[in-house]
Amino acid sequence: MNNIVAIVGRPNVGKSTFFNRLIQRREAIVDSVSGVTRDRNYGKSEWNGKEFSVIDTGGYVKGSDDIFEGEIRRQVELAIDEADAIVFVVDVEEGITPMDDEVAKLLRKVKKPVILVVNKVDNAMREKDAVEFYNLGLGDYFTISGMSGSGTGELLDKIVEVLPELPDAVEEENPLPRFCVVGRPNAGKSSFINALIGEDRFVVTDIAGTTRDAIDTKYNRFGFEFNLVDTAGIRRKAKVKEDLEFYSVMRSVRAIEHSDVCLLVIDATRGFEGQDQSIFWLAEKNRKGIVILVNKWDLVEKDTMSTRDYERKIREEIAPFTDVPILFVSALTKQRLLKALETAVEVFENRKQRISTSKFNELMLPIIEATPPPALKGKYIKIKYCMQLPTPTPQFVFFANLPQYVKDPYKRFIENKLRENYNFSGVPIDIYFRQK
Ligand code: GDP
Ligand code: GDP
Repeated sequence: MNNIVAIVGRPNVGKSTFFNRLIQRREAIVDSVSGVTRDRNYGKSEWNGKEFSVIDTGGYVKGSDDIFEGEIRRQVELAIDEADAIVFVVDVEEGITPMDDEVAKLLRKVKKPVILVVNKVDNAMREKDAVEFYNLGLGDYFTISGMSGSGTGELLDKIVEVLPELPDAVEEENPLPRFCVVGRPNAGKSSFINALIGEDRFVVTDIAGTTRDAIDTKYNRFGFEFNLVDTAGIRRKAKVKEDLEFYSVMRSVRAIEHSDVCLLVIDATRGFEGQDQSIFWLAEKNRKGIVILVNKWDLVEKDTMSTRDYERKIREEIAPFTDVPILFVSALTKQRLLKALETAVEVFENRKQRISTSKFNELMLPIIEATPPPALKGKYIKIKYCMQLPTPTPQFVFFANLPQYVKDPYKRFIENKLRENYNFSGVPIDIYFRQK
């Protein structure tokens, strides 16, 4: 689980420029594995060995001047709810605008760390101009040029300094699976949870403002013990019902990061849409287990749409990671709830499994020998040895003489063979090639 840093501010101050700078180096690594760049508004950053997640709130509502002030206000409120630290970006070229004042007013009340960043300070003159931002009443500020990168080092020092310590010991003590139920508004998340565990859920008091919380509540249903992750975002969903991608993604980040397996609830009558996809990617990017629940199946005319057609459509949307269980459920008629829970537990087990090095080599080396990586520039690639790494999520390393010559199609071939022989259903896996 990571701390979450949210970048807020009005349009065109340079939020996405700064965001891209933050996630750049890391993203390059992640993408070489998955082969795809996905969510442009959410990423991981690392500084001085501390990893954290970054959300560019502006990226979701790409603004021009006609952007509603209310829109910005809601973004900031969401950031306040969901993030551990807030970076408020302003623009020295423009100076303080009324909208900046509005945002500052909201942020002055926040107990979480708020860092004021004056952007576009490209030269020494502008350094002096930045002084006016003291008037926002947020105290000291950092000056940066998101474009050139100057000033970002000191800013990052500050960001990792103010982030709260994470209780990572909890993970070891708590062997129960942690599930979260995510999805767009009205997909039926609350109905599903209620159907599964009854109305006694979420009787916790709403401790808004102190929301460092992702609360695990322990349940035992159908003989399975598990924790359900509850976050401020999920509890307070009644307040925000906007059907915008930004909100459902933002509301899901903490729950997803905090869980082992995500139950992604989609609305059968709407199909698998952009928002569903974004949440799916969020889970995949965090290497969480995933089960897709096609809810409200009771409403679907069965002769027009077979489960097989429906499934195929979803798999097209989630490619290349298609080895994911898809279940057709109804929170209303309580159809296949047990199956959903069973599957989530199975995915949890799949994600935890450890394959012994000898068994793994016994399986993979003959496969590799029969279908070796294609030679490149007249050079033959030899893979001599492989193993699963002792990491929290499944990662496999293959030692080769020329690892840099192994291309993505071959990685996919290896992954497919792995999935054919072991049950990694619902689990993202990583495959690396390293120098022997
Ligand atoms: P956002 O709407 O807040 O995400 O803003 P963008 O990152 O899209 O940037 C808005 C404009 O400001 C773009 O034209 C950027 O090139 C420009 N910009 C961003 N950072 C800087 C900077 O440090 N200096 C200058 N001069 N321009 C910048
Ligand atoms: P959430 O916003 O994702 O938590 O969605 P809710 O649980 O509040 O459900 C949204 C609406 O869909 C409510 O009116 C529910 O009664 C309805 N609903 C939820 N699940 C089902 C289902 O399986 N079948 C039908 N027909 N309606 C459902």
